[in-house]
Amino acid sequence: MRNAPEDLAALLREAEHAVVLTGAGISTESGIPDFRSAGGLWENYDPMTVASMRTFMDDPALFWRFHRPRIDMLGAVDPNPAHEAVAELQRRGIVRSVITQNIDRLHSRAGAVDVIEVHGSLDAGRCMRCDHAVSMDEVCARADAAEDGVPRCDCGFQMKTGVVLFGEQMPTQAINAAYDAAESADVMLVIGSSLVVAPVSQLPGVVLSRGGRLAILTESETDYDPHCTVRIHEKAGPTMQAVLAALDA
Ligand code: NAD
Repeated sequence: MRNAPEDLAALLREAEHAVVLTGAGISTESGIPDFRSAGGLWENYDPMTVASMRTFMDDPALFWRFHRPRIDMLGAVDPNPAHEAVAELQRRGIVRSVITQNIDRLHSRAGAVDVIEVHGSLDAGRCMRCDHAVSMDEVCARADAAEDGVPRCDCGFQMKTGVVLFGEQMPTQAINAAYDAAESADVMLVIGSSLVVAPVSQLPGVVLSRGGRLAILTESETDYDPHCTVRIHEKAGPTMQAVLAALDA
């Protein structure tokens, strides 16, 4: 198995339809903890509780005590060299689609376009009863003005963001777009995902079953490692910048 940035550059150069799939690990170098690495979010919180539809409905004050500071934290970080490299590969026409599990919008802020956000994103707020939509700034203003920290719609019901919660239906359009991209990909590059959260965990299998090739750039191991053409266990940012340099060489 090949494992150098130059190998990844060669694979991408040969590709006619490369797709990038990213998870929380691409954003750790921006200062956002992932779920499963040491120091990740699961060490301090149970995401099944704080990021679940059940908590949002039954205990919105607990839900918003966790999520309100995270909105500020995510607003204060910037895309890192890995997000920038992905956007550059897309600008060069080497990467056709970017699929992400992340809700942080850093791919779009780095310049990637038509990003397929399979877990939604922190783009706006909306009332779960009457569907009234407001900006994230408005969500925060309403949360900060409320005694219990819960942003409420004019109709009185609590508002939520565009992030998909555990127990909530996945966004059909994004999931379909992700499968379409995987089905037409001859190369899939996975960056910073443990590939354990469905349905994204199935996408590399879709590519492989249609004769495509797989590259994974993630620090920890994944179940797909034996099926990779290129497998790199390094930090995403410096590696992706080295890939760009190798493409330019
Ligand atoms: P995960 O936490 O399960 O796995 C992250 C992977 O990235 C691990 O394999 C880890 O070794 C690797 N990694 C961490 N830092 C890295 C780096 N600098 N370079 C290369 N690899 C690195 O993440 P997941 O598979 O995306 O699943 C977690 C779920 O949580 C996702 O569904 C996602 O929606 C959500 N989440 C999102 C964010 C975000 O938007 N930034 C943050 C935390 C969790």
